[in-house]
Amino acid sequence: MTVGIILQGKGSDVITARGTTPLRDICSTLAEKGIGAILVTDAADHIEGIISERDIVKTLAAKGPEALNLPASNVMTTAVVTCGEDDAIMDVMSKMTSGRFRHVPVLRDGKVVGLISIGDAVKYRIAQVEMEAEQMRTYITMT
Ligand code: AMP
Repeated sequence: MTVGIILQGKGSDVITARGTTPLRDICSTLAEKGIGAILVTDAADHIEGIISERDIVKTLAAKGPEALNLPASNVMTTAVVTCGEDDAIMDVMSKMTSGRFRHVPVLRDGKVVGLISIGDAVKYRIAQVEMEAEQMRTYITMT
């Protein structure tokens, strides 16, 4: 199963912000949309970084509430690991596990076409395991 299958199910809407967006507004967007991370992109839609709730917690713990006025560019992770629509979901899950992050943007020709979370990947993996178990049960009862 590939990343493209997940995008077919959840769509390719990706919430983005500019590097100049204050952290306070990033927090509002995360809360409003019920998401855990936001991509920071430039005017040409190229990825500049990613900010997750973990970055915000870490920054607030270190700098206090004044940090809410900092621009997103001060808080984001800039070395963003990405994937393509044809990548296997298992490979993306491996990237998440080894890199210790839970979000991976999906690129097509350098442009963002989606964002996969660990929740999306686990949901599809469970569906796949259940389907394999059902096939196994059918096979056993027919032999
Ligand atoms: P997360 O588990 O996604 O909340 O993120 C944990 C940490 O990894 C945070 O510092 C994020 O900025 C960073 N991070 C999240 N996604 C990625 C990614 N795809 N590539 C690199 N770093 C990431």
